[in-house]
Amino acid sequence: MSDKIPYKIYLSENELPSSWYNVRADMKNKPAPLLNPGTHKPMTFDELRPVFCDELVKQELDDTTANIAIPDEIREFYRMYRPSPLVRAYCLEKKLGTPAKIYYKFEGNNTSGSHKLNSAIAQAYYAKKQGLKGVTTETGAGQWGTALSMACSYFDLDCQVYMVKCSYEQKPFRREVMRTYGASVTPSPSNTTEVGKKILAEFPGTNGSLGCAISEAVEAATKQEGYRYVLGSVLNQVLLHQTVIGLETMTAMDKYGIKPDVIIGCAGGGSNLGGLISPFMGRKLRGEADYQFIAVEPASCPSLTRGKFVYDFCDTGHVCPLAKMYTLGSEFMPSPSHAGGLRYHGMSTILSQLYDDRLIEARSVEQTSVFAAAQQFARVEGILPAPESSHAIRVAIDEALKCKETGEEKTILFGLTGTGYFDMYAYQAFNDGTMSDYIPTDADIQKGLAGVPRFEGNNI
Ligand SMILES: *Cc1c(COP(=O)(O)O)cnc(C)c1O
Repeated sequence: MSDKIPYKIYLSENELPSSWYNVRADMKNKPAPLLNPGTHKPMTFDELRPVFCDELVKQELDDTTANIAIPDEIREFYRMYRPSPLVRAYCLEKKLGTPAKIYYKFEGNNTSGSHKLNSAIAQAYYAKKQGLKGVTTETGAGQWGTALSMACSYFDLDCQVYMVKCSYEQKPFRREVMRTYGASVTPSPSNTTEVGKKILAEFPGTNGSLGCAISEAVEAATKQEGYRYVLGSVLNQVLLHQTVIGLETMTAMDKYGIKPDVIIGCAGGGSNLGGLISPFMGRKLRGEADYQFIAVEPASCPSLTRGKFVYDFCDTGHVCPLAKMYTLGSEFMPSPSHAGGLRYHGMSTILSQLYDDRLIEARSVEQTSVFAAAQQFARVEGILPAPESSHAIRVAIDEALKCKETGEEKTILFGLTGTGYFDMYAYQAFNDGTMSDYIPTDADIQKGLAGVPRFEGNNI
């Protein structure tokens, strides 16, 4: 090894960030505000209070404060599993025969198996501080529900999870992890909510969707005294909490004088990517440094690369505010053959604005190529990656192979958001050669977009 960069760069606990970084403060074009779906006016603090905790509403609406202090109680919890390692992928580089230097920030070293715990603990803390009894949420693949149930048990809060029905059935062990941490888990759509009953009546055989589970969780929160709704991605507040990923990465890289040329992350609702890139984006926006940022999404759910930048519903039941984002329409459903997560129809308003301003790029990748990258990575780096994370691995490998052709010694950084132990049916399909790729047709995309609300100024 010619250079002295260790395999794993660990920071000490004292180097944990003391504030989250709010990239909106440095954005010239601010992300568009959430709108009231009835009046089409920006949602106010008072309108959001019945749904979210007060402190989180403040964070959601704050476009100007660059650094928001992380409360000591949250930092205490972070200490149990953070700082997370930044790994130099020497073995992968060698295997690929690339002159590129590859780094990944690994967020899978906690029981929830993903980065989602970073925001779950913050949201549970603010709920507790407000004196609430509990929170409700949705979960798709199950990582968010797991993270939230861990966070709620730590602060002794009730946790009610609406889990997309097909995941509930396919991933019984995820469900049991949540129950072990004390959460109650309901398959969605269910007949425990009005919106769930309505969806069941209209689509009796439905497998459920994230958009539908969100509607149920919001209804459950607003109907129970002392409850609020919490969300694991998409919102500004979630992206803010996830900046702990990027801040640690930046500290570690600065310490060793490493400057990433390309920064890659998978994009579902955008929270891990936003969290990883925010501090670097801040430097770019302030003219201090330049980086190439790449968002990677599934070809079967391509909101950035094929969606429209318009105001849309965040959920199927249309109970949530409207968000201006790259979207495929709230009724868009990825093909049932899609196994790799990242299936939300929209994208964080912050990332949507940055993408529209050409500050980040986006690529879509097909799932068999994603699992091929996952397998290649697992075999040399020893970590079994989550399918979601493997979207970023795919593009990191592609970029490294490009460097092999050109001889460029680029430094590539990507976010390894979690582990894939609960996704073994998907791995099995890949190993058996039965996994297929599905790319929605233009007609499929048009059909999804037909559900976008029409009103003055929202042209599609
Ligand atoms: C939820 C999840 C994602 C996608 O969510 P984002 O909000 O886009 O970050 C990615 N990777 C893992 C492991 C996840 O659990």
